[in-house]
Amino acid sequence: EIYGFDQNTDNRDNLHQGTDFDPALEHKVDSVLALMHLNEKIGQLVQYSGKWDATGPSSSKGDQHKLDKLKNGEVGSMLNITSVASVRETQKIVMENSRLKIPLIFGYDVIHGYKTIFPIPLGESASWDLNIMEQSASIAAKEASASGLQWTFAPMIDVSRDARWGRGMEGAGEDTYLNTVIGLARIKGFQGDDLSLPHTLAACAKHFAGYGFAEAGRDYNTVNIGEHELHNVILPPFKAAAEAGVATFMNAFNEIDGVPATGSKALQRDLLKGSWGWDGFVVSDWGSIGEMIAHGYAKDKKHAAQIALSAGSDMDMESYAYEAHLEALLNENKISMAHLDHAVRRVLRVKFRLGLFDDPYRYCNEDREKNEVYSKEHLAIARDAAKKSIVLLKNENDLLPLNKNLKSIAVIGPLANDKDTPLGNWRAKGRYNSAVSLLDGVKKAVGSSTTIYYEKGADLTVPTLREGQNQFLHPLKFNTTDVSGINAAVQAAKKAEVVLLAIGEDAYQTGEGRSQTDIGLFGVQQQLLEAVLEVNKNVVIVLMNGRPMDISWAAEHVPSILECWFLGSESGNAIADVVFGDYNPSGKLPVSFPHNVGQEPLYYNKKNTGRPYSKKHITYSGYTDAPKTALYPFGHGLSYTTFAYENLRLDKTEIAKDGQISVSVDVTNTGSVDGEEVVQLYIRDMVGSITRPIRELKGFEKVMIRAGETKTLSLTINADMLRFYTINKKWEVEPGDFRVFIGGDSQAKLKASFVVRE
Ligand code: BGC
Repeated sequence: EIYGFDQNTDNRDNLHQGTDFDPALEHKVDSVLALMHLNEKIGQLVQYSGKWDATGPSSSKGDQHKLDKLKNGEVGSMLNITSVASVRETQKIVMENSRLKIPLIFGYDVIHGYKTIFPIPLGESASWDLNIMEQSASIAAKEASASGLQWTFAPMIDVSRDARWGRGMEGAGEDTYLNTVIGLARIKGFQGDDLSLPHTLAACAKHFAGYGFAEAGRDYNTVNIGEHELHNVILPPFKAAAEAGVATFMNAFNEIDGVPATGSKALQRDLLKGSWGWDGFVVSDWGSIGEMIAHGYAKDKKHAAQIALSAGSDMDMESYAYEAHLEALLNENKISMAHLDHAVRRVLRVKFRLGLFDDPYRYCNEDREKNEVYSKEHLAIARDAAKKSIVLLKNENDLLPLNKNLKSIAVIGPLANDKDTPLGNWRAKGRYNSAVSLLDGVKKAVGSSTTIYYEKGADLTVPTLREGQNQFLHPLKFNTTDVSGINAAVQAAKKAEVVLLAIGEDAYQTGEGRSQTDIGLFGVQQQLLEAVLEVNKNVVIVLMNGRPMDISWAAEHVPSILECWFLGSESGNAIADVVFGDYNPSGKLPVSFPHNVGQEPLYYNKKNTGRPYSKKHITYSGYTDAPKTALYPFGHGLSYTTFAYENLRLDKTEIAKDGQISVSVDVTNTGSVDGEEVVQLYIRDMVGSITRPIRELKGFEKVMIRAGETKTLSLTINADMLRFYTINKKWEVEPGDFRVFIGGDSQAKLKASFVVRE
């Protein structure tokens, strides 16, 4: 028994259990399965990438192989085909040539929008606004399905605590609860209530599991995590996704405690499909079945195919291992027909749910493709999502918001007039250079009497990625040393009342394979910043980035800092909304910002050491050269107003294990403008059968509070919030002392105690 999972065998396929079990659907699945020849069954488990248009596969050897397989009904799915014409053409190959005409399912990475681009997921998570996240996912689904697609490889719900890891941009940050509720909102947005409706997409919970815990933040790296940590920190968002009926899962590239996730029976067959009773299919990550050879876990591709299928990886994305070896493995009794059927059934089930058997072309609608994308309404929601994602990290002397009629403003920096970087990585069909730049946003916002001075000042990377280039093959050249633009920037700064300085990262510094050991302002950005600040103290940093950065010098010296992530199509407009006070910032960090990279991984919900005290003594558990706390903690984010928290009260201070406590708190807007606040509730279990984090987010509410108004908020603490994976390898509430903290960030001071009785 690995990690304490149940050793269930084939569960859902034959044992008719679970609330969403649909006998009519199962009957249809079985009736198709009964018709299938072995090559067709194996074919359903094969997924190819096809980078072709309506002309179909090219004459290259690889494409001709795919074409033959499609004709024979030996392919189950395609990815990376992204237009109605090409989806139609490819589906036609199967429909017109194959024996059983089982439709293909078409998947694509629709991560934060399709043509209308929303903030990168990490950025959007900073909104703590589940409605807007559901809405943006549903627009992404509408636009992508209008291109003929039925399946997105999203959301990524990997908890990640290391700023060096490039893929943190795709998730919801460092907290388990936030990843859980945001994952659910996104799944709901993609899938809607009914997968068979043509404007929805099947979602994919990824990467199962542990991918965000790559050692040293290096992508794909080894993951070592204890059993309790795995259950308590990494798995909850996945369990919730499975329970919510996410259509598919994707496994992961990493190994976890010696077993590649793709080959992990414990995770896939026993836990996900067994204990959790989930009935969708698992797609491998790209080539991850074959990669088990490099891991030293499989001796060749055949062995890898055997391990993966037996472990419960249902579909082979681009490893070519299943198509080449499953038949022989079956003949040699190295895999079972039961396991093969199990996988095929799952793929068919999802295809039925999508309505593909009723009409394989139902997503192919040229009118929709033309008219349902990049509309004014979609862009308006993208702007809304973007402004809600902005986090005001610092605002000394109320430098922000700026007056729209100020005499002059300098818009400076490598990202100040960049129309591409704000789209971020994984931008699906977001067109190159299609975002509203900061400069354009400012131009539209200010009055006619305001003079704008623009200077780039410095470059980020040379050269940046251009449309059509492959992000994985494109080399980034860091640390440009060209300082020739700084002087002009200084001159502009001298002339202006205020400087907006747009600095940060290139869009492709985060994303897959984009881990970094330096998370500071690389290149000559620091030099630019210092030179500009020297001549003008009124500097607002507009930070664009996909990870927590080391901005400690700026935090000490610059009056205002706005965290603007990569905000998508409407970036510049949304930033202007906040800069000029049309929108009062309400975002809160979903990740901790460190003082320096040496603190990573840094996260708020850590555990105490035996020497937790914050005295400056080297034998205590800090660093001799840096604080151990965050520069900006998880949950932090300022507003143009201030909020005071008072009167934390519990309706009882003692409950049974299945009891509930109602917690209320008065929150007053003590400033002069209306504002939204994210009221956060954290709990600490004081003593456990395994050690417990010093606090954990367990609930939050985002509320609008008018200037001068006091709102009383009530939140409920229930057994689900107290339960954890205990020493007994079970989710249990343990009796004892608990603390509850409420406030506007993870350092919230207002607290109360309660007891859970035996
Ligand atoms: C990534 C997945 C992605 C897949 C398909 C892989 O490299 O890890 O997240 O869905 O490619 O593009």
